[in-house]
Amino acid sequence: MEATFAGEIPTTIIIFGASGDLTRRKLVPALYDLAQGNFLPPSFAIMGTARSPYSDESFRTHLHEQLDLFSRAQPGEVPIWDEFAKQVFYHPLVYDNAESYKNLGERLAELEQEKAGNRLFYLATPPQLYETIIRQLGAAGLSTPRADGDGWSRIIVEKPFGHDLPSARTLNATLHQVFDEQQIYRIDHYLGKETVQDLIVFRFANTIFEPVWNRNYVDHVQITVAEQVDVASRAGYYDQAGVMRDMFQNHLLQLLTLTAMEPPAVFDPNALRDEKVKVLRALRAIPPDQVAQHTIRAQYRRYRDEEGVSPGSNTPTYALVRLHVDNWRWQGVPFYLRSGKALADKRSEIIIQFKCPPHTLFLAPEGSDLTPNRLALCIQPDEGMHLRFETKVPGAGMTMRSTDMEFHYGETFGAGTLPSAYERLLLDALHGDPSLFTRGDEIELAWSLIDPILEGWSQKDAPALVFYEAGTWGPPEADAFLAADHRRWHEGCRSQHEKRS
Ligand code: NDP
Repeated sequence: MEATFAGEIPTTIIIFGASGDLTRRKLVPALYDLAQGNFLPPSFAIMGTARSPYSDESFRTHLHEQLDLFSRAQPGEVPIWDEFAKQVFYHPLVYDNAESYKNLGERLAELEQEKAGNRLFYLATPPQLYETIIRQLGAAGLSTPRADGDGWSRIIVEKPFGHDLPSARTLNATLHQVFDEQQIYRIDHYLGKETVQDLIVFRFANTIFEPVWNRNYVDHVQITVAEQVDVASRAGYYDQAGVMRDMFQNHLLQLLTLTAMEPPAVFDPNALRDEKVKVLRALRAIPPDQVAQHTIRAQYRRYRDEEGVSPGSNTPTYALVRLHVDNWRWQGVPFYLRSGKALADKRSEIIIQFKCPPHTLFLAPEGSDLTPNRLALCIQPDEGMHLRFETKVPGAGMTMRSTDMEFHYGETFGAGTLPSAYERLLLDALHGDPSLFTRGDEIELAWSLIDPILEGWSQKDAPALVFYEAGTWGPPEADAFLAADHRRWHEGCRSQHEKRS
């Protein structure tokens, strides 16, 4: 990661909703790890704000208690906490009260010692407060850099960004009344994962894969984002959102765009995002009356018994969607996307299944098909890549066996070296690089693909919600869906060792 910052301009990250889970589990541990690596600007401060009545001191204590659990660095081992804590502050705030923001502005100016500072606002409250906070920031004059210097002002907006297309448009419009697009960083933490970024390098810094990355050689693509956890403490939010809004609109579509996009001419934030937008435009929308042909929605069996879930809830906790990218590169290649909660494993992977050789000289082992090559991009938990190809079993005759060539980040670069997604993204926002953040048009296009599916599922004659046992890979209907296309799900990122044991 880039370590240098020009000048000594005071830089403050101001977190709204700082008493919450995201701040203690992700944001502050990420900032702590960045401080540990000496990546933060020389004059840096964190200003937590929320309604809870913390003082600077009690807020520091609250955060310190969490670091052992959530930081990559162990604060017990390396004595930077005392220095770090001196840069952490708390400002109690009422979200819709103008006076609160005026006081916040004064507190920031005090911290910046009357220099024009850089300010990075972070919205980590429930999403229904985003517009209130944005408007108040605008009214208090906090969204524009101060006239007496060259400090910048930026805003990171957490997911969910809207709950459908109209609400995303409204949020974009509110943001644009107060901030310019280049000041806005819509975060999707999946884009901060090393393996997701490596997909771009893998595709465009090597010559051997790009020539076969198209309809001539690829049979289909599978994108899986599987969670082992159930809805747990997020049931209230989840029961309103469901898997489509929670996972597909953002993470899965982002993975699809990076897999399917054309190479940008230059590695520049807008060129990259232009190419992703072109993929979203080329995706064939599924009309509400065709959801039965292209989707499956399911719920794990004990979901309705979870605290916070309405007893008759039809919220899907699992979905499978088959999409097509209508362009020259991908015509006729299905992309199968699936995601769910309470599944057998925590696993995110993209599988590129190549076509079978057009003609074979060798007999496949009895009872099996000839196995085509398969590339698995493993996003989590064991970041890396597996490339499967056929080999000859030593000995007489011509018996074949599939073998995986595996690359694991941990083995190559050392365990524990991968920065968390939030480290990477916070640092990019501080550096003013929005490449790994979602642009306004991208978010709206993603919703325009998701909304018709949700509409189809809500209709009276919608295909029935199906059920699956927690701890499995989803409903049997999802296997049948692929079987009807003469395909099956693959676990491409299981290591050879796992497969043998
Ligand atoms: P929490 O509920 O843990 O924290 C949100 C904070 O917002 C609370 O501490 C609370 O502080 C404040 N708040 C203000 N009004 C309300 C309200 N009506 N109900 C609840 N809290 C309120 O949420 P998270 O930290 O988990 O999430 C924050 C945002 O980040 C959400 O939009 C979430 O979707 C998103 N997010 C969270 C992730 C996570 O891992 N936690 C991952 C990805 C996104 P106070 O009462 O002191 O004002």
